[in-house]
Amino acid sequence: MGGISAHDLRMEFDGFAAVADVGFEVATGEFITLLGPSGCGKTTLLRMISGFLAPTAGTIHLAGEDVTRTPPEKRDTALCFQSYALFPHLTVRENLEFGLRQKRVPPADRETRLEAVVGALDLSPHLAKLPNQLSGGQQQRVALGRALVMRPSVILFDEPLSNLDARLRDQVRIEIRRIQRDFGLTAIYVTHDQAEALAMSDRVFVMKGGRIEQSDTPERLYGRPRTSFVADFIGNANVLEAEVRTVDGNGLVQLDTALGPLLAASTIPPQGSRIRVCWRPEDADLAATGPNLLSGRVTHRAFQGHFTDLHLETGATGCRIQTKQPGIQEGDTITFSLKPEQIVLLEAVA
Ligand code: ATP
Repeated sequence: MGGISAHDLRMEFDGFAAVADVGFEVATGEFITLLGPSGCGKTTLLRMISGFLAPTAGTIHLAGEDVTRTPPEKRDTALCFQSYALFPHLTVRENLEFGLRQKRVPPADRETRLEAVVGALDLSPHLAKLPNQLSGGQQQRVALGRALVMRPSVILFDEPLSNLDARLRDQVRIEIRRIQRDFGLTAIYVTHDQAEALAMSDRVFVMKGGRIEQSDTPERLYGRPRTSFVADFIGNANVLEAEVRTVDGNGLVQLDTALGPLLAASTIPPQGSRIRVCWRPEDADLAATGPNLLSGRVTHRAFQGHFTDLHLETGATGCRIQTKQPGIQEGDTITFSLKPEQIVLLEAVA
């Protein structure tokens, strides 16, 4: 069992709260990503879970045991970061064995663990090489292997792919996920790359200013963000302010916005009379029927291969839409519609 639970975690540096009032539960075998802009506290939170930082307040339990004050080497966790963390003067085999020797794991057991990891990561052709004789992706696999031979129940990743090129990153992402599943590991993964977070995770914790703003599945974070920060950080939604006109008993909300009047369908009542709402650029339907009919002049057009990105002047403001429809030019006026359920109600305007 390798679940994690954190309660009221707080980390202060000289009175500045880098992490504040953070609490969560992670189930055994779950893959969680900490996502957020630079400085939001991702690494600080990860370092508290790994034991390299002692929290100012709060508790951390691993597999039901209070480890808040337990040093890192006594926790059942392994930390994996960028590939340059390999020992440059040791061969791949020696790098892989390093932690096991330190823990005085007997040679026979050491060999068995090594074989399992070398096989899973396809490292056997490289065992005698030094790190500088390997490609970036191979070095990354060794770094991962070095964490895995320790057979932790929790594996922690701090931006492990940031020094790999885009194609390799895709490949290693798939590999990390496969191994995490095969070994039944609980994983916490730090990144500021939203595409990576959405692609890899069972759940994503979106962080802002030391707090978890929303924790949810990738699908819900994208489709049902709860705040404009999450809506904007994940997938560039159109966010705008709205005056709530009426709310009927079926959850249909009439809104006045700078785009014009909009009808939103929501199971959650609006949290104020002046709120923010969002909708996704790809939800704009150029077949143009339904209640939310909008039109605008195309001010910028960017062909993206499988769709075209359009910037529009609409009502008293602007918006972005994506369409597969060919032939639209800058200067054209187009009409599109949005379904009421595609308009998501967010927080109140302060
Ligand atoms: P990045 O994506 O840039 O790595 P992050 O989300 O991981 O950022 P942290 O490294 O956790 O952010 O830092 C959170 C805040 O705490 C930042 O404002 C940082 O300057 C501050 N901080 C982190 N470590 C220390 C430290 N040892 N002493 C003082 N301040 C620190």
